Formats: sequence, structure tokens, C-alpha cells
Amino acid sequence: MSLFKKTLAIAMLVMTLVAGGFSLAYAGEPLLKSTRTSQHAAILAYNRGVETYTQGRSELSIECFREALMLNPSLHAAHGPLGQLLFRKGDYQIAFTELELATRITPDNASYWCILGITAERLQRHETAIRAFNHYLTLDASGSYANEAKRALSILLTPESGSCGTYISEFSKPPRHWQNFPNRLRVAISNGSEIKSAYPEIVIKALADWSEATGGRIKFVPADNLTQADITITWTADRSALSHSGELGNTELIYTSKGTIHHANITLLTHFEEAQTPSDMEKRAYAVAIHEIGHALGLQHSEQVCDVMYPSVPPIGLEFVPSLRDRNTLASLYQ
Ligand SMILES: [Zn+2]
Repeated sequence: MSLFKKTLAIAMLVMTLVAGGFSLAYAGEPLLKSTRTSQHAAILAYNRGVETYTQGRSELSIECFREALMLNPSLHAAHGPLGQLLFRKGDYQIAFTELELATRITPDNASYWCILGITAERLQRHETAIRAFNHYLTLDASGSYANEAKRALSILLTPESGSCGTYISEFSKPPRHWQNFPNRLRVAISNGSEIKSAYPEIVIKALADWSEATGGRIKFVPADNLTQADITITWTADRSALSHSGELGNTELIYTSKGTIHHANITLLTHFEEAQTPSDMEKRAYAVAIHEIGHALGLQHSEQVCDVMYPSVPPIGLEFVPSLRDRNTLASLYQ
């Protein structure tokens, strides 16, 4: 039996704060001039905060802005940059408070609204995220984070039931599927020293979510060894090991001579620069795993942002399980 091998070229596109064009460059007021002696020390501390921020000395900068606010609680200009720095550090709860103050004090600063939105997403404070991204887009409709903010709003504002139908017609290549359905697919999950201890469990959760999405018609069972596995899942810390820069994961499908799927190799990235905390890292790992397992089942990309098979990951904090359209499309592949 001859086997041929084909790689689905497009895996996931990375959308990070950095790659998406959004940076945490200093977005606050420029250096201040002291006009009253009583405020002098606070303004000096504030100005040191700005200078150390632009030098990338985040910890020192946080101290300076805090000192400025302690010396003069009315020095409102310090809230915004302090919020930015705390976000970068992953201290989302305190960052949220500072950024809410900053947006109230300087409501025309688009950057503050944007970071408030991202912080709110990560804290699951969805109402604030919606309000913040709407403000951001009103102030800077073509801003570097505008597309991501629009995606976040689409996800947040789509009813949980989602839209129906399938996206088979959106596939770029002929549909392929595993030969037997219902099916038990044997999965080998590699365990490497470079992976975070939570990753195998995250993959098992993603497999269970797909199994549930098929009403249990596809079951995943552990493979006894690598050679018996239908699906192998491995990790890499090296982005260049994936076929395109910007990819977070990749699935290679090997077909039988009849064109059905014979084997799937999934490679998942271990590290995501846009994730500030271990919890962010795990959320992103789940979003990548659920998407790539979808490819392993034969799904190709969807054009709708609320489907797991949309080609870029959702913003951190807005991950979701297979949508109704994902489920319908999978079901139609195996009719
Ligand atoms: Zn993909």
C-alpha cells in the first residue's frame, strides 16, 4: 500500500501584542515641569519613572510611579504608565485598577483603553473588555491592535449558541477523513523535559472536548507505543521547527492510497511571548492544541472568528471549545 504525505500548509497565525504591531511603548504624558515646591519631589519621581520606562527598567519604573503617587496622590498622570507596566508584569488585577483610573482621567488616550481591554479579557471581565475595546476603536479605528480588538468583540458579542451550518465550502483542499467513524484513535503524547508539566493534561482536555463535540462518536485512547499511534503529539520550543514563522502549531496528515487519513503528526509550540503568566501560557497552549487536533480529524480552516478552526488564535482569556459550526462541519465530514 503506497502512502503519500501531504502537509496542510496553513496552521495557526500568531497574533501577539508584539507581532500584531501593538507595543507597550510608553503612552503617558511626557516629562512634567514642577511648578509648586510641594509637588516637586512627586514630579521628580514621576519623571524618573518615565525615563526608566523608556530604558526598559520596568521594576525601577514601577517603584518611581508608585513613589510619585504616594508623594502626591493627585498626580494622575502616573496611573496610565503604572498600569501598562503592571500589565506587562502579569499583575492584572492591580493593572486593571490603574488602567481604569487612567481611562477615566485621560479618556482620549487610545492606548490605555486598549490595554484595559486586554487586561479585562485576561481577568474574564467581559463587560469592561467590550466597553474598553469599543472606546479604543472609536479613538483609533486603524490602530495596530484594531483587528485583534474587533476579533475580541466578535467573540465576546456572539451568543453562546453560535451560528449554524458548516464550513466545508470554505475548505481550500478536498475534504479528507479517517476511514472508520465512529472511531477510536490511538494517541501518543510525548513527554519532554522542555514542556510545562501542565501541557499533557491540556492536550487530554482538548481531546476530550473534541470527543464530546462528536457526541462520543470519536474516542481517543492512549497508544501503547509510538508505532501503533494514529496521532502523535510532540512539542517544540523552536519556532523554526514549524513550517512558517508565526505558526504556533502544525499538523501533518499522511493519507492512504484511498485518500483517507492514515496518520497525523501534531507539533505544538511550548512558549508564547505574548503570554505574561503561566496561566496565560496554558490558555494559549489549549487554544493551539484544540485547533491542531481539529486538523488531525480532517477539519480545515473556517472564516468565522468564533470557530476553533479560524486560522488565528483567540486573544488570551477568550479561548473556547468547538463551536456548533465546528461540530456540524466535523459531522458532515463523516456522514
Ligand atoms: Zn490551522
